Amino acid sequence: MSKNILITGAAGFLGSHLCDRFIKEGFNVIGMDNFITGDAKNIEHLKNHPQFRFIKHDVTEHITIEEDLHYILHFASPASPIDYLKIPIQTLKVGSLGTHNLLGLAKNKKARLLIASTSEVYGDPLVHPQTEDYYGNVNAIGPRGVYDEAKRFQESITMAYHRFHGLETRIVRIFNTYGPRMRLNDGRVIPAFMGQALRGEDLTIFGDGSQTRSFCYVDDQIEGIYRLLMSDYAYPVNIGNPHEISIKEFAEEIIKLTKTHQKVVYKELPVDDPMQRQPDISLAKKLLDWEPKVGRAEGMAITYNYFKGLTEEELYKSAH
Ligand code: NAD
Ligand code: UDP
Repeated sequence: MSKNILITGAAGFLGSHLCDRFIKEGFNVIGMDNFITGDAKNIEHLKNHPQFRFIKHDVTEHITIEEDLHYILHFASPASPIDYLKIPIQTLKVGSLGTHNLLGLAKNKKARLLIASTSEVYGDPLVHPQTEDYYGNVNAIGPRGVYDEAKRFQESITMAYHRFHGLETRIVRIFNTYGPRMRLNDGRVIPAFMGQALRGEDLTIFGDGSQTRSFCYVDDQIEGIYRLLMSDYAYPVNIGNPHEISIKEFAEEIIKLTKTHQKVVYKELPVDDPMQRQPDISLAKKLLDWEPKVGRAEGMAITYNYFKGLTEEELYKSAH
């Protein structure tokens, strides 16, 4: 008999790819989302799929599911800095109250719960590359603190349910992931640069561009999450691509890829923007026999093709 899985944040970037993957693996998928940062278009293709059912619901409100549940993936949360700065209270609530509701649901249903944590739990890291045993350097009261601390609380309450109630839990610390279905106007650097290139605008570098990130293609990320869910490891695991690049060099790569002749312009660096970020993925390699397969050139080309296929209206829709 097919297993049932609940995926929150199903209409978002990662959530929608997870729905596709678990359907492909033969699961019955129940998608849940309130569309606060997601888009119904991301799951439009699943509308009449016999293995898919959608519930529009805010996970910070009590959740009732009729079916038995074997697995739950909690991916609902604003994920881009401009989103969580615009809706800070909802961000705190979905990481805290939302996670509490899902833990309660998992306990009732005897389901295994995987939560989407983030490299942001390391804040502006003083250890490089970041290993899972690093406690992080987070400014709790800064503007980004709403996201970072919500995710840190989420990890903490998840471990408490694991230890106190014996709940089966998994924690993935996701590092910057990109690919088709990202929202063009979500403010994250990849859609921002690609949108600017497509509209013929200059590329906006925040700060002097010396800050680094390490970008992981979505298919690699989904594979890592799948393997972690199926593993028996309850502690956090980094999933990301360790190939690090400065934002300035990255802007140059985008200009080459898009064959545009844009200039770069420099804008103020957002408060608490981490200066460096690179996952140490030794643990994922050892535990899950996982490592990323898609290089930046290949992944960016696929992603650029996706953005090129958007309508004029979508291309010019301003940040919400
Ligand atoms: P996204 O904004 O595309 O998707 C998030 C989805 O959650 C959206 O569809 C949104 O409508 C939904 N949502 C938010 N609050 C909700 C609520 N209260 N009730 C129901 N639905 C709600 O973002 P994403 O990039 O797909 O991120 C998904 C998850 O992965 C998030 O938890 C994020 O923190 C985590 N993550 C992502 C990245 C990344 O690089 N993409 C990195 C680290 C962590
Ligand atoms: N960034 C930038 N220009 C933009 C958007 C982002 O220079 O138009 C920078 C941002 O300051 C950060 C990096 O790119 O240093 C990655 O930002 P993103 O929002 O994608 O993710 P996060 O900061 O959460 O890693």
